[in-house]
Amino acid sequence: MKKIAVFPGSFDPITLGHYDIILRALNLFDEIIIAIGENYNKKYMFSTKKRKNWIVQLFINHPKIRVEIYKGLTITFCKKKSANFILRGLRNIIDFELEKSIFYTNESIKPSRHKYFIETVFLLTSYKFSHISSNIVRNIIKSNGNYSNLVPFSVKI
Ligand code: ADP
Repeated sequence: MKKIAVFPGSFDPITLGHYDIILRALNLFDEIIIAIGENYNKKYMFSTKKRKNWIVQLFINHPKIRVEIYKGLTITFCKKKSANFILRGLRNIIDFELEKSIFYTNESIKPSRHKYFIETVFLLTSYKFSHISSNIVRNIIKSNGNYSNLVPFSVKI
């Protein structure tokens, strides 16, 4: 079985925290699909095109990584892509509680195991990136601050 993981998120914008999780997960999976969510209920700071381009540029030399945009349920997207793993990062207790409810929701709506196997894999944030969130980066950008130590080189506002 080819181990394909979907890493879903807003990536508004991608940060060094996301980047670190993806690089570490490359050791676990044959392929990682970075799935940029387009959720009608969410207002994004950056267009989907920009969010995607920054990630594509970042992983241009990584044959195991694909970048896609998706709408709707993550689980439906995963099934369509024949991915058996969802990748998520954990920074703190707030992430844990949120991820727990997402996990149990996915459990309750996923197809029965013999039809489709899907498991979520959580990686704990690296200590030096544990304070980074897209939200913090957006706030720094809005205040014209220096965000360059928080995002990968490809993010150019
Ligand atoms: P979402 O809108 O789904 O929260 P994000 O783009 O904010 O999307 O995050 C996607 C995933 O990356 C989530 O699992 C989140 O917990 C994780 N993540 C975000 N920042 C970090 C970080 N600094 N370290 C580890 N994981 C992170």
